[in-house]
Amino acid sequence: MTEIDYKKVTGMVHSTESFGSVDGPGIRFVIFMQGCKLRCQYCHNPDTWEMESNKSTERTVEDVLNEALRYKHFWGKNGGITVSGGEAMLQIDFVTALFTEAKKLGIHTTLDTCGFAYRPTPEYHEIVDKLLAVTDLVLLDLKEINPEQHKIVTRQPNTNILLFAKYLSDKQVPVWIRHVLVPGLTDIDDHLIELGKFVSELKNVDKFEILPYHTLGEFKWRELGIPYPLEGVKPPTKARVQNAKSLMKTESYTKYLERIHG
Ligand code: SF4
Repeated sequence: MTEIDYKKVTGMVHSTESFGSVDGPGIRFVIFMQGCKLRCQYCHNPDTWEMESNKSTERTVEDVLNEALRYKHFWGKNGGITVSGGEAMLQIDFVTALFTEAKKLGIHTTLDTCGFAYRPTPEYHEIVDKLLAVTDLVLLDLKEINPEQHKIVTRQPNTNILLFAKYLSDKQVPVWIRHVLVPGLTDIDDHLIELGKFVSELKNVDKFEILPYHTLGEFKWRELGIPYPLEGVKPPTKARVQNAKSLMKTESYTKYLERIHG
């Protein structure tokens, strides 16, 4: 059997960012993959949605890694590379190849995903296990715990996303859970309590974060000629963010992280 040359595997890359500071620990080189099946109402990257776009470029693992390595001296002890999107797991072969090559060089690898591509089948597990074996950290966005509200927020069900969260827990893959708090959309007390309970039952969560909704991506919707569904919605108040933190008990995860990492 011929061995795969991971360096030559290609993926459709939307863009890269040299100094990501909110995409995992430390300073990170972030690779945004093209394509996503969700349509989150608050998405700030709608230009990554289509699987094929004249804004993306087919690039090899070798090429992307060489670009990332130019910034290695900024990473210090904690930084590394993060693959984001769009939805990175739609191009799982590329991400697996990229992380495999990165791990050979001792680079910390983070996967930022919504988990929607996950399938609870032995065939998919065989594929995803190869990726998880070379993934140091998963940033998992849980957009809504309530199935009906999830469809309103993203136009897709959350069944496989929640199963993926449990799969990562069973596999003991370190995870940071993130929830974008949007007034009137994902800021519903009962749902926040339920989400907090769901996360508390996972065994692998190092951090549980609330990301307050912001309007920075709104201009992209306009540029693409797509009506912005959250027109006029303001970021949540500090009081609502604090309310969500208490209902979901997020503080305890931050304390846990401080305890284990100092
Ligand atoms: S999963 Fe991410 S990229 Fe996809 S629509 Fe939602 S916010 Fe946008």
